[in-house]
Parts: sequence; C-alpha cells; structure tokens
Amino acid sequence: MDCIFCKIISKEIPCKIVYEDETVIAFHDIAPAAPVHVVIAPKAHIPSALGIDGTNSAVVGHIYEVAVALAGTLGIAESGFRIVNNCGADGGQTVAHIHFHLLGGRKLGVMG
Ligand code: 5GP
Ligand code: ZN
Repeated sequence: MDCIFCKIISKEIPCKIVYEDETVIAFHDIAPAAPVHVVIAPKAHIPSALGIDGTNSAVVGHIYEVAVALAGTLGIAESGFRIVNNCGADGGQTVAHIHFHLLGGRKLGVMG
C-alpha cells in the first residue's frame, strides 16, 4: 500500500520516533507548525476519522492517553497544548492514514 505513515510504521521511511507500542506510533512532524509538533497514529491503516467505528474506536482513546503522556515528557503539559485531527480535504488532511497532531510550546492561534 502506498501510504507514507504505513511506511513509517514499517520503518521503510525513517523519522524521529518519540513513542511506540503494539497499537500506536508517535513521531516528530517533518514540517513542525509549533515548537512541539508530534504526530500520533494507529499502526492499523484507518484512512480517516470516517473509518472509526465500534470495532476500532478504542485506539482513539489510547492515542489521547499517549498524547497527554507525551505532553508531560515534552514539557508542555502545564503551558497547554492542542490535539488535532484533520479529516478530508476541507479539514486539511493530507495523509490518508488517520493521525492526531500534538501541538504546543507557543501560544496557538484561533482555529479555522
Ligand atoms: P495532515 O495534514 O494530514 O493532518 O497531517 C500530515 C502531517 O504529516 C503533516 O503535518 C506533515 O508535515 C507530516 N508528514 C508528511 N510526511 C511526513 C514524513 O515523511 N515524515 C514525518 N515525520 N512527517 C510527515
Ligand atoms: Zn497507512
């Protein structure tokens, strides 16, 4: 499958991994939009939020747990952060493998 994030998960494409377990991976974004910008994705190829249902929604909760833990280890838990999921063209999604952005380290602008 021609999916950049599946290739990152299979280590075909190198990146700076900050956390990995059986079901998720977290890595520094190649084009950071903030001083801390980590992408967290399930290892299963789910194309977008539209692919979340009762069979796989537990991974979203796990991703939030991982994001909050990383906010702590990366030093932005107290200053604040944002967790973002872009879905589809108007949502700004550019990689068709569901993922969540953890952003922080500066005052973030208003959304939209
Ligand atoms: P989206 O726009 O789909 O919400 O987010 C995709 C993100 O993946 C972008 O912020 C983009 O910079 C990042 N990205 C795309 N390709 C790569 C890559 O090969 N390595 C890393 N580390 N990040 C990538
Ligand atoms: Zn994929």
